[in-house]
Amino acid sequence: MIRKIVREATCLVVALVALAPAVAGAQDIKVTLLGTGTPVPAMSRFGPSILVEAGGQKFLFDAGRGALQRLAQIRVRWQDVDGVFLTHLHSDHVVGFPDLWLTGWLVSPGRDRALAVWGPRGTKKMMSYLEAAYEFDIRIRLYDDRAAPEGVVILAEDIAEGVILEKGGLKITAFAVDHAPIKPAFGYRIDYGGRSVVLSGDTRVSQNLIRYAQGADVLVHEVASPESFQRVGTPPARAKSVIEHHVTPEQAGEVFARTKPRLAVYSHIVQPDASEQDLLPGTRKAYSGPLEVGEDLMVIEVGEKIEVRRPGRASP
Ligand SMILES: [Zn+2]
Ligand SMILES: [Zn+2]
Repeated sequence: MIRKIVREATCLVVALVALAPAVAGAQDIKVTLLGTGTPVPAMSRFGPSILVEAGGQKFLFDAGRGALQRLAQIRVRWQDVDGVFLTHLHSDHVVGFPDLWLTGWLVSPGRDRALAVWGPRGTKKMMSYLEAAYEFDIRIRLYDDRAAPEGVVILAEDIAEGVILEKGGLKITAFAVDHAPIKPAFGYRIDYGGRSVVLSGDTRVSQNLIRYAQGADVLVHEVASPESFQRVGTPPARAKSVIEHHVTPEQAGEVFARTKPRLAVYSHIVQPDASEQDLLPGTRKAYSGPLEVGEDLMVIEVGEKIEVRRPGRASP
């Protein structure tokens, strides 16, 4: 009898293993928009941060306001985040970093290994200043809370354009974008299993981005809507200055038309209350392909098919 049970159990395990590859989508890249906002402290759009998962690895791109809370919300153990890539050092892209770093070390499942951080020139300096700024807390947590000493270590690296990481079939490439005078500022291309995702970071129309985004499956691009500035009563000179650091929907439509992704997605939406009506008609002047206006916690699975899931809605 016992033998029979063991035999049946073994058969079941074999059957499950056989099913696994079809279910898992092992070659997919999974993108989760943790925060699709800007410096504006909006509850509907947290600060810029995107989680990319591929080949059993997890990387964050930027750590804007609320990045750690969003990870908690989708039940990603922050201990499992393998590193953080920064597009540039504007505060809205990094203000959530101390929380991710320190709370993610202290609170279970606390990080017990060093946190790798890659970013433009100035990243190492910023990280060493953060270590100095939080020196009191770090000291106390080490002796009072007995937090793992390795978990508070930051391995920071200032990077230049090129391949930054190649591991387990996952390749992450940084490329320069045009967010002048914020220099350098990077976008990133993620390649895995024949799939690819490009993240624009903050940029105005960038020929270099258009080059790096050729053949990409998904292009996540920032956008700024002039109408949304008028609505909140931003002084015209200030609105013009902000918009000139970014792309308008018309310009983004041209970028999408020239790169032809299988899916275009808006994230880092300036202003955060910009509606589809503010964004889509302008984009559609030049681009008629697949397009999603991103929202916080939107998931994009990039495989043979591209699946988009919005929070609070059942998957199809
Ligand atoms: Zn920004
Ligand atoms: Zn910026």
